Amino acid sequence: MNAPGKSPIVAAAGGSFLLENRTPSEVFTPEDLNEDQRQIAATAARFAREEILPAVTALEAKEPGVLAGLMRKAADLGFTAVDVPEEYGGMGMDKTSSTLITDHLSVLGSFSTAFGAHIGIATLPLVWYGTEEQKQRYLPKLASCEWIGSYGLSEASSGSDAMNIHTRATLSADGTYYTLNGEKQWITNCGVAGLYTIFAKIDGEKFSAFLIERETPGLSVGAEEHKLGIHGSSTCPLVLQDCKVPVENLLGEVGKGHHIAFNVLNVGRFKLGVACIGGARHALGHMIRYAKERHAFGKPIAEFGMIQRKISSSATRLYAAESMAYRTVGMIDASLAQHAEEQAHSARETQRRIEEYAVECSILKVYGSEMLSLVTDELVATMGGYGYVEEYPAERMYRDARINRIFEGTNEINRLIITGWLMKRALSGQLPLMKAIKNLMDEVMEPPSFDAGGEEDEVLGREAEVLAAVKKTALFAAGVASQRFMTGLQDEQEVMADLADVIMQVYGLESALLRARKLAASGKSSAGAAAAMTGLLADESIWLAEQAVRRVLAACGEGDMLRTQLAILRRVARFTPGDAVGQSRTVAQAAIALERYPV
Ligand SMILES: Cc1cc2nc3c(=O)[nH]c(=O)nc-3n(C[C@H](O)[C@H](O)[C@H](O)COP(=O)(O)OP(=O)(O)OC[C@H]3O[C@@H](n4cnc5c(N)ncnc54)[C@H](O)[C@@H]3O)c2cc1C
Repeated sequence: MNAPGKSPIVAAAGGSFLLENRTPSEVFTPEDLNEDQRQIAATAARFAREEILPAVTALEAKEPGVLAGLMRKAADLGFTAVDVPEEYGGMGMDKTSSTLITDHLSVLGSFSTAFGAHIGIATLPLVWYGTEEQKQRYLPKLASCEWIGSYGLSEASSGSDAMNIHTRATLSADGTYYTLNGEKQWITNCGVAGLYTIFAKIDGEKFSAFLIERETPGLSVGAEEHKLGIHGSSTCPLVLQDCKVPVENLLGEVGKGHHIAFNVLNVGRFKLGVACIGGARHALGHMIRYAKERHAFGKPIAEFGMIQRKISSSATRLYAAESMAYRTVGMIDASLAQHAEEQAHSARETQRRIEEYAVECSILKVYGSEMLSLVTDELVATMGGYGYVEEYPAERMYRDARINRIFEGTNEINRLIITGWLMKRALSGQLPLMKAIKNLMDEVMEPPSFDAGGEEDEVLGREAEVLAAVKKTALFAAGVASQRFMTGLQDEQEVMADLADVIMQVYGLESALLRARKLAASGKSSAGAAAAMTGLLADESIWLAEQAVRRVLAACGEGDMLRTQLAILRRVARFTPGDAVGQSRTVAQAAIALERYPV
């Protein structure tokens, strides 16, 4: 459904945002949603309001049946069938609709975690890699939530180091079944699942995936973990003791299970970032309403500048994350639509086209999860003592936010992926990064020009200039670091992480700017707030980038060489600051008037 007609949205190459410039009409934004998609978003938001929020206490207390019951109610509305093809009982929706569902359902960390694991990492391996028989057998059950799905990769001694799993599978002498032995740890939905996608090494060597039904003898579920947050979700160890799995339940090919494990994480990361956006929008609503109601020194605290700054900085990061998320899914849908025109869809081709945006998915995971941590922290701060006690939801939101920086690849691992993936593409010639770096180096060796770049008169011209500066800063730092460390760059983790931070700023600021320009052209009432948030983001991005790049340069050289490079950095990162105080007030006052996120 919702097949876009002749859409101007460009399915740009993954990571190309660092090198190419886009026009507003070429990127997808939430303002471009069609009527069907708006309806889907509204239905999901209503479900969140009328079903999820009233169940919070029962869910968080793990009352038996509540989580599974809520998942099934969500399934009744088709929410768990979004990414499942129609021939297997699914709805085969476009990825934008699927993103909207995750976004607008995400008002409670526990439910988002359970729902996200079910529709993403637990269902997609089967959609992409399952045999016809496996899909016929299991997908209708997962789409309808008759069975909840679970994905078991991590073990006690191997989380980030996922290739190092110890769970073993051995083929029987008659070749009809595998015997699995091992223990998985931290498995979401473990206590409520009917089907587990489990990763094990055949003969201790060949990394492979298996579909295991709950009732299989030899499979047992351990006790629920006592976690910092997301108390309502199920997280347990899974023990496999001489667990016999029919050969028909091997998923994909022997020795290729790591492709399944890692490819599915791209979507997992993207959806996690999207869930953080929904969570942050909800938290920000609480922040604004509380600030209006709470009085101190004879007036609502919403009138204090520093409270307004909490509202505006939360809204600004949320706006950046939201702009990146919908831009990314717009590219994915544009790419899938292109392919659908060329030939019939194959599930593996869908997966490949999503994998193209691996770097954008990791960016969204890191940026989104850190954004949610900031917003929930500012919510606690806004509520003072009331933010710190269980009686109010801020305390739970603050605790729940933390897990997002750990699972689906920790943010440390994802930062390594962001820089590593781009550098790999650059070295293989898939992305003309090296050419762009060389062009920049030639440019900076020229005598300084006092031409401001010619964008001043355009809408958000200052912000466009700052974006150009952040991009150049990123390319300059990547050039210096790759020249200094060559292929050894991957071992310089601090440098890799700093580069990832600058790259994230580029994608965030550019997505925000293009959206703000689109809003300005449409004359929508939210255009003013979007422009002010883009202004705030521009200053934040360039300051952050400059600081990170200074560290990179100092790690790459010293003496005269360092001094020369710092001088180049000063030239490249030159910018005129905006009126951050005025912009903060504009954003906060719009949010306070609307009593919500102002876009
Ligand atoms: C509530 C919850 C639910 C989960 N759900 C699932 C699930 O459904 N399925 C599943 O398979 N797993 C799940 N996990 C596991 C989760 O994915 C892992 O906890 C995570 O990947 C980190 O692995 P670890 O805990 O072993 O930490 P480690 O890998 O030991 O990491 C410890 C620290 O070292 C850092 N680190 C590790 N390696 C590097 C490196 N190369 N460079 C720099 N820093 C590094 C990490 O970033 C981290 O800060 C869940 C975990 C939790 C807590």
